[in-house]
Amino acid sequence: MALIPGTVGASPVQNVGAYGVELQDRFESLDAVDLQTGQLFTLNAAQCGFGYRDSVFKHASKPLGLAGRALITAVRFALPKPWRAVLGYADLEKKRVQSGVKDPSAQQIFDWVCDIRRAKLPDPALIGNAGSFFKNPTVSAEQCQDIIGREPKIVHYLLADGSAKLAAGWLIDACGWRGKSVGNAGVYEKQALVLVNRGGATGGEVMTLARAIQTSVYERFGIMLEPEPVVV
Ligand SMILES: Cc1cc2nc3c(=O)[nH]c(=O)nc-3n(C[C@H](O)[C@H](O)[C@H](O)COP(=O)(O)OP(=O)(O)OC[C@H]3O[C@@H](n4cnc5c(N)ncnc54)[C@H](O)[C@@H]3O)c2cc1C
Repeated sequence: MALIPGTVGASPVQNVGAYGVELQDRFESLDAVDLQTGQLFTLNAAQCGFGYRDSVFKHASKPLGLAGRALITAVRFALPKPWRAVLGYADLEKKRVQSGVKDPSAQQIFDWVCDIRRAKLPDPALIGNAGSFFKNPTVSAEQCQDIIGREPKIVHYLLADGSAKLAAGWLIDACGWRGKSVGNAGVYEKQALVLVNRGGATGGEVMTLARAIQTSVYERFGIMLEPEPVVV
């Protein structure tokens, strides 16, 4: 989770995660205030309904949706003892091999994640951005085979249930969007999954760019990309 900007209270809202670990993997419970009734309550992981960049805090529908209704005041984490490295992510494994370290420490992994992120992602203090703008879409095994047949180089990760997660950045790149702009909103040159504010971009420009990207990816791959940030 190194270098993911944000507060602890916001981290369960989209079940933040990166490089092979999500909040839900280390989560125990949270406390919150019901903004309608003023009641305090506690939720465990199952009650939070965590999914990929998702939770009950992003959904308004009843009975379980808590969007706009819950103020998270405390989050409890459960860390495994002894600590174990999670190195399944390809870029991290590459770093480990390059460094020659067999059993990296948590600090080493933190530093590697920071290096990888700094090389790919713009610093929001310098270039306005919301991180990944689209979620990586999940497709069925059949759909994945069909797309691989047409696009053999497509970056994808097979999941335990036979489905596959496709790299949204790759799909956007394949449609030629990297470095392109609509007004002052642009697609980051080093990572097509990130939309950036090149200076003075309006919300309209960002959304026009996002919809144009969705349309091209849909027309070429038949996949509708879903935005990751909450649009207000
Ligand atoms: C450069 C960059 C890289 C990023 N990389 C990643 C990444 O790798 N993985 C990832 O998962 N995300 C990533 N993000 C997204 C972002 O960091 C998270 O969404 C973060 O959790 C937002 O935190 P925040 O405190 O700014 O929340 P805000 O943006 O202020 O709020 C986000 C949502 O949570 C709600 N909320 C905030 N606090 C609370 C609270 N206490 N109780 C209830 N609801 C609350 C808000 O109402 C809003 O709906 C990235 C963002 C940027 C800019």
